[in-house]
Amino acid sequence: MIKSKIILALFILINNHAAQNSSDLITNILSEVNIDTLKKTVQILSGELLYNYNSSQVYITNRGGKSTENVIAGDFIGKKLNSFGLSAQSHDYRSNGRNIFAIQPGVANSTEVYIICAHYDNVNNPGADDNASGTAAVLEAARILSQYNLSCSIIYVLFDEEESGLIGSSFFSEKLHNESQQVKGVINLDMIGYDGNNNHAVEIHTQERGNSIDLADHILRLCKEYRIDLAPVIINPGTNRSDHASFWNYGWSAVLLIEELYGGDFNPYYHSLDDVISFFNMDYFYNCARLAIASIASIANETITGNSTDLRIENFSLKQNFPNPFNPGTVIEYSVPDNTHTLVTLKIYDLLGREITTLVNEETGPGNYSVNFKAYDGLTGYTLSSGLYLYTLRAGEYSETKKMILVR
Ligand SMILES: [Zn+2]
Repeated sequence: MIKSKIILALFILINNHAAQNSSDLITNILSEVNIDTLKKTVQILSGELLYNYNSSQVYITNRGGKSTENVIAGDFIGKKLNSFGLSAQSHDYRSNGRNIFAIQPGVANSTEVYIICAHYDNVNNPGADDNASGTAAVLEAARILSQYNLSCSIIYVLFDEEESGLIGSSFFSEKLHNESQQVKGVINLDMIGYDGNNNHAVEIHTQERGNSIDLADHILRLCKEYRIDLAPVIINPGTNRSDHASFWNYGWSAVLLIEELYGGDFNPYYHSLDDVISFFNMDYFYNCARLAIASIASIANETITGNSTDLRIENFSLKQNFPNPFNPGTVIEYSVPDNTHTLVTLKIYDLLGREITTLVNEETGPGNYSVNFKAYDGLTGYTLSSGLYLYTLRAGEYSETKKMILVR
């Protein structure tokens, strides 16, 4: 066993690409991404292709919570990582939850860690887009980048139990935090196969955490520089509803790549039995994977510029609306502190305390949020008269109220 590992290590050394300049490196990596490999992984993980598991053949049709097929999917991922010469590890953070990951040590600054990740669990459906697509791209990254010497370390990680509330990634980021790892950048992939209107739009969700905004800019620039056929859009503040948010909790730089979550072309088959690969836009999927893989290679090989600060959110806060006075619309921003997941409401009242509308009423994780409020609608015209109004943010025991003025 040890002997075969040494031989494998030698083989990898001989086969590793020689040092090259960074633009050749990215060009080469982009050319190595293979749509057939990506497609096959999605087909296996969404139950369209048989998978040879031990001595039997299985269709993985449900990667949800406690299912046997969730375990098989995890084993599939581990075997794939091992097949690239990486050493897959299982992070059994609780009895029903298991992250699968592999570390590729950097050759120059091995203590600096970059992460490319996706969740592999799903909710009782084929889950081709959500999120066999992201999982396939992470495995494709591992297949290609394991053959290169990059200056910093990369962790390839596939999370379990994202669908139950980012549980796998919460435990994983906590583990890295406890190990005092220097997490320099995280790219999370969640739903990168659907582009119904074929506008090539991909969203890069970011927030003011660490260098997350610089990281999003870097990915956008890389997309343009290498003419990847996508139309990237930066969303700031972006959503907290996927695994990158677990890294924001520690003030680390992280972004999410996703199809149009906010842009109006979100997968209509999301969380349904029709989330199958036949609804993918294959060119789009291919290019999203290429962008993600080139981006992680690029940042693991050079440092992202920007002021590296841990911007932790300590408390709930409600900002003064802007503009104020307003007519007819205004933006209200608020923050939910780290390590919080709670019901948050944001309501508007008149001066007599009568509720006018509820802008937010949802279970929310940490982050900076913004909401638009309009005192005008296209059908009925103005919905409020000029004057002073109050808005109140509530979460548990916390409550804060501010005033705003509508001037018509
Ligand atoms: Zn998802």
